Amino acid sequence: MDPIARRIRALVDRVAEIKSEGVYFYQQPVEAVESSWVRIRGRRMLLASSYSYLGLIGHPAIEAASAAALAHYGTGTHGVRLLAGNTDLHDRLEARIARFLGAEAAVVYSSGYLANFAAISALVGRGDTVVCDKLDHASIVDGCLLSGAQFVRVPHNDIPAFDRALAKVPPEHGRLVVVDAVFSMDGDLIDLPALADVCLRHGARLMVDEAHSLGVLGDRGQGIEAHFRLPGVVDIKMGSFSKSIPSVGGYIAGSPDLITYLKHASRAFIFSAALPPASTAAVIAALDVLEAEPERVKRLHANAQRLRAALRAGGLAIRDDPTPIVPVITGEDEAALRIAEYLHAQGIFALPIVPPAVPPLTSRLRITVTAAHTTEEVDRIAAAILEAWRAISPTPTA
Ligand code: PMP
Repeated sequence: MDPIARRIRALVDRVAEIKSEGVYFYQQPVEAVESSWVRIRGRRMLLASSYSYLGLIGHPAIEAASAAALAHYGTGTHGVRLLAGNTDLHDRLEARIARFLGAEAAVVYSSGYLANFAAISALVGRGDTVVCDKLDHASIVDGCLLSGAQFVRVPHNDIPAFDRALAKVPPEHGRLVVVDAVFSMDGDLIDLPALADVCLRHGARLMVDEAHSLGVLGDRGQGIEAHFRLPGVVDIKMGSFSKSIPSVGGYIAGSPDLITYLKHASRAFIFSAALPPASTAAVIAALDVLEAEPERVKRLHANAQRLRAALRAGGLAIRDDPTPIVPVITGEDEAALRIAEYLHAQGIFALPIVPPAVPPLTSRLRITVTAAHTTEEVDRIAAAILEAWRAISPTPTA
C-alpha cells in the first residue's frame, strides 16, 4: 500500500469501528429545524449542541429578506467579487456589519474559515512573526502556516507568555497576534484588557476571532470590545455569519486601508466566488433583527446561567464563563461517547468532542443552549446530563 492509501485506510477503518459501536454521532441528517428542536430520521430531538445562539433560524423577517434577494438576483453570482460577482448587496452587507461593530470598514468572505485563512496569510509572511493562543481555531492555525511567517504558539490565555514571545521577535519583523474572543471548545474568554496592553507595548497588531462572541458578548451582541468596554483596542476583527447569524460567510473589519488591502491582496477574496445573494441578504436582515431584539442576548445568557447552575447543583465541575458554551468534560473519549449515546436515547441531540479537536484526555460534551430554549427545555437538558453522568460515571482527570 502506498502512503496515501495507508493514510486513507487507517482513518476509514477508525470511522467504521466507531460506527460499528453505534457511537458515531457526526453528520446526522437533520430533516427540519424548529426553534430548539430538530427532526432526525423522523424523530424530534431537543438541541443541546447548536451554534444558533440567538435562535434566529426560521425568523420570518430574515427568511423574507433572503427570499426577496433570491427572487431579485437569482441563486448565484457571476464569479469572484473582484470581477463580475460583486453586487450592491455585498457592498451593503460590508457597510452594515462595519456599522454594527462600530468599525470603519469591512470585507466579507464566503466563510469564517476563509476570512481567517485569507487575511492572516495576506497580512504576514516571511520576515514577520505571528503569535497565537494554543487553543486558537484551526482556520487561524492554517492561515499562519500558509503565511510562511515565524509562527509562535503560547499556552492558553497565558498573557505573560504572549509578552515573552513578543519580546523575542526580531526588531525588523512585523508582529501580529491572533486569538479567539471565545474559545469554542471551552467557552472561556481571552483576557482582552491584558493582551491589548501587551500588544500595544510591543507594537503588535491584535486580531480577534469573534465567531462565538458576535451576538453573544456585549448587551447587544456587538462582541468582545463591548463586553470589556474597550472600544477600538482590537485592530482586526474577524467573525462568522454561521453561528448567531443564521447564514454563511465571514468578515474582517478594521481600518479602510486594511480592507482595501485585503480586497486586493487576500487570495480567497480574489480567487473564490462571492457569497450567494440569498445568504448575503439574510445576514443584513439578521443584523437588523439583532439590533431590534436585544432581549435575545439577555435570554441566551439567562439560559446558559440556568444550565450551569443546574449542572453544578448536580455535582459537576462547570466553568463560570459569560458564554453559552458549557463543556462537560469526561476525560476519556469512551465516556463522552457513552454519555452522548445516553442523551440521544433520551431524545437530546448533544455532541461529543474528542481528540484531535481537543487535547487528549479532555474529551467532552460541548453543550450549548440558545435564546430559543424555554426554561423547561434547559432544565430537561440539565437533568438528562446529570442522569447520564451518574449512569456512565466518568473519571475526568483534567
Ligand atoms: N473561528 C472559530 C472560532 C470557529 O469556531 C469557526 C467555526 N467553527 C470558524 C472560525 C469558521 O467559521 P465558518 O464556519 O464561518 O467557516
